[in-house]
Amino acid sequence: MSKGTKIPGYMQGKGRNPRGIIGDREIRYKCSLQNTILDVLRGRPGWQEVPGFQSIPPITRNSDGDWDFYWCDREWLHQNYDTMFLYEHQKILHFRNHYELTRKNLMVKNLKRLKKQTEREQGKAEGLSFEFFPTTYELPSEYHIFVEEFKKNPGIIWIMKPAARAQGRGIFLFRRLKDITDWKKGEYQPLSDPNRDAPETYVVQRYIENPYLIGGRKFDVRVYVLVVSYNPLKVWLYRSGFARFSNTRFSLDSIEDTYVHLTNVAIQKNAPDYDPDKGCKWSTQQLRKYLSAKHGVDAVRKAYKGIDNIIIKSLQSVQKIIINDKHCFEMYGYDILFDSDLKPWLIEINASPSLTASGKEDYELKFGLLNDLLNVLDLENRLTGKEKRIGGWDLLWEDGPILADDGNMECVPNGNTTTIPNSFLGCHNDRKRQLRELYMAAQSVKKT
Ligand code: ADP
Repeated sequence: MSKGTKIPGYMQGKGRNPRGIIGDREIRYKCSLQNTILDVLRGRPGWQEVPGFQSIPPITRNSDGDWDFYWCDREWLHQNYDTMFLYEHQKILHFRNHYELTRKNLMVKNLKRLKKQTEREQGKAEGLSFEFFPTTYELPSEYHIFVEEFKKNPGIIWIMKPAARAQGRGIFLFRRLKDITDWKKGEYQPLSDPNRDAPETYVVQRYIENPYLIGGRKFDVRVYVLVVSYNPLKVWLYRSGFARFSNTRFSLDSIEDTYVHLTNVAIQKNAPDYDPDKGCKWSTQQLRKYLSAKHGVDAVRKAYKGIDNIIIKSLQSVQKIIINDKHCFEMYGYDILFDSDLKPWLIEINASPSLTASGKEDYELKFGLLNDLLNVLDLENRLTGKEKRIGGWDLLWEDGPILADDGNMECVPNGNTTTIPNSFLGCHNDRKRQLRELYMAAQSVKKT
């Protein structure tokens, strides 16, 4: 694209200022996806879509800074980031090497490293705060260490997962080493893939045999986390998310039955008795209410504090590795599983959590989530930058923990907010009302 090319909705140079804040003009966006995010962007007042530019050679893309905001896919970023110049005001989804956290083998490698470093520098007791990911080895590289561990724990169940695949694909459970010998022989390798010259990397992980059950069913929880900066680390946690239930009652008798053991929607929707109207989801609000009624508010708060710990430790484990770029942000989908003691375990972290809605409620959740994300990024420059809550997002960490100053009574016993972390997963999400008040408050601060 030449410098002078005119793009509809593109007002070259106008309204841009040295601080990178977009002034009094429309915000130009690009979007690689066709789902809820596109609806949100199209519905946002003052935002204007810039036509696709897939056919333009990478080196000339963005030579004019022809967009302000780009919700791109990971492949696009990988192909273009290194040759791309970003202007002060531009924001783009994904950090360059997000896979350090979102590939199953690398996530564990980074967590193990920070755990060791913590034990060395702060003692063994501190290392215990990392006991939230099941024992995991990378295969084939750590096969021999795994076999040693396997022999030490006869009879337990292990789960094998391809390191870079998603939606439950290629996963299986096993009890006998023989099953893995078959895998080693290549039985589970996609031999049809002509580009593969080395065996596919898997992780083998201790299977959590005692998941927390509701109605006899296993579930995991999808938690949304927004990172706007790695240095300093600045993290937001969204109040709403959902629990995904398996369709079939839990049992360890049939470990080959994926409908029992894998809670992915992609798997469950193929179950013979799956009801698309009912789905297999609960909101995080429903879940928190249920757990609080059953175990008390304090026990639930303790369990959810464990989720905060998972989020922060995992992000810290890659803080020095991720290429921090002030233009980049990431919205992660964390998958958390509770065991029968209500202890949360980290299963995996997704850099592209599904934004396709499975029903009306799911659409409303994702629409609000993404709209609020844009409110946090604040390309419109409507906020003061000091906010601790924006819509459904609560500021969890900014170079250190954030404490709540307006506790949500529903989730906070005794109304004591002075030592409560600013973390409200599953609490009431009155996002629209909150935003109205927030913008009014920000306006009056700016006027004074
Ligand atoms: P994928 O990226 O393919 O979704 P996950 O690691 O998220 O892979 O695993 C898929 C599902 O398998 C999870 O949602 C969870 O229900 C189940 N699962 C994965 N790991 C474990 C584990 N260690 N213990 C118990 N269940 C697990």
